[in-house]
Amino acid sequence: MDKPLDELGDPQRRTLLKRAAWGLSIAPATLAALAAEPALLSVQDPAAKAVHYVEDASHAQGAASGADCSSCSIYGATGADRGTCTLFPGKLVKATGWCSSWSGM
Ligand code: SF4
Repeated sequence: MDKPLDELGDPQRRTLLKRAAWGLSIAPATLAALAAEPALLSVQDPAAKAVHYVEDASHAQGAASGADCSSCSIYGATGADRGTCTLFPGKLVKATGWCSSWSGM
């Protein structure tokens, strides 16, 4: 289709408009994929190691009973099993995790 739009016949114009509509319809899905959820914090991350972060609070030394990320005052749930922590911008922590900076509500 090298012709200008006003020189196209009805079938060609219809095809072009369908393709444009299809392209617009997938744009939100593409944008959503690009705005994918941040990665989970790795226990190997130096910042995680600095505060003794673990993914399972029951394996943490020094964690009070019932203390985990989901009960921490700076945790923000983004899903059932994970959420944000202001200590680790751009990463998610496990709801069951814990670190030595845990702070109760
Ligand atoms: Fe989890 Fe709170 Fe430590 Fe963040 S500060 S990793 S939410 S226990």
